[in-house]
Amino acid sequence: MRISEPATPEFRANHISANGQIMMRRHDDLPNRADRAAYRFNDRIEAVEETTNGSSVTFSSGTNETFDAVIVAEGVGSSTRELVFNGANDPRWMDMTIAYFTIPRSNDDDRMWRWFNAPGKRSVSLRPDQRGTARAMLSLSKEAEGEQDWDVERQKAFLNERFADAGWETPRILAAMDSTDDFYFDVLRQVRLPRWSSGHVVLTGDAAWCATPLAGIGTTLAVTGAYVLAQELIRNAGVEAAFQAYEKQMRPMVENGQGVPKIAPRLMHPKSRLGINLLHGVLGVASTDIVRNLRARLFSGPSKEVDLTRYD
Ligand SMILES: Cc1cc2nc3c(=O)[nH]c(=O)nc-3n(C[C@H](O)[C@H](O)[C@H](O)COP(=O)(O)OP(=O)(O)OC[C@H]3O[C@@H](n4cnc5c(N)ncnc54)[C@H](O)[C@@H]3O)c2cc1C
Repeated sequence: MRISEPATPEFRANHISANGQIMMRRHDDLPNRADRAAYRFNDRIEAVEETTNGSSVTFSSGTNETFDAVIVAEGVGSSTRELVFNGANDPRWMDMTIAYFTIPRSNDDDRMWRWFNAPGKRSVSLRPDQRGTARAMLSLSKEAEGEQDWDVERQKAFLNERFADAGWETPRILAAMDSTDDFYFDVLRQVRLPRWSSGHVVLTGDAAWCATPLAGIGTTLAVTGAYVLAQELIRNAGVEAAFQAYEKQMRPMVENGQGVPKIAPRLMHPKSRLGINLLHGVLGVASTDIVRNLRARLFSGPSKEVDLTRYD
């Protein structure tokens, strides 16, 4: 099955709710969990050491265990990646800071995703979700200055200051930001590593290759990567051979996904009102049927997706 194919009726019945949400199963609902996996909570990896028998992992609880394979899927800011692949990540900074959170829906919100550009390379957007609330996004086109490492209070103060005069629905969004319980803030950067494995440790998902939300393919890559890694572990005699085969399959798709031009977010966030008017004019033309069809014909190339039928 290719990942872009529609879900099978069986998958749909087990994993997709009536309103189209993918359902997550609680770990304690999983069958035979004692035979298959052990879950540890409130613990984290403190050290990883390569031995002849596998990877020796020390947890913050003080426990030490040796594993045949350590699969690191900790997202863009992975701390275990920094332990094992220290200094190897050469991030591609996208000059874009975003904040994303849920706020109460108001009577004025409609069913469309509304996007507002403010001068000063800022944008604000609001879109309804399927839970009766609205998802707000604040974006700022600027070079990174370490904001991703600030604490939440400082990040919110920064947004309050930078968006205070933006206009439109921004005052309402900033007011609701203080009490939101899912505040997400990041300075967008791609993770770029020459290799995704070292001995018995392998990276996957955003920890290995974060493409950033600008690419719109991070979830597809994470799910495909997990599947390909599992299949290669089944098919290869040793974990190191499996890791190499996994990397060989995934690299072209990842590099293609990371290919988003850095200028794109800048063009979407003009500095002046004149620039914003120009952007809206260009987007108006680009969204006409003629231009969309032409673009699809000119720019569609051969797919770089992993052909998952090789694992059937
Ligand atoms: C605002 C936004 C919009 C996006 N839109 C899209 C989109 O439209 N389409 C799309 O395909 N993708 C999109 N993405 C990207 C997508 O969300 C990611 O690519 C995807 O979630 C990556 O999955 P992952 O499992 O690798 O990492 P994550 O989803 O980041 O999961 C990593 C997990 O590891 C945990 N963790 C971190 N460190 C440790 C540690 N040391 N020990 C234990 N656990 C740890 C984290 O808490 C987290 O639960 C978007 C991302 C954002 C932020």
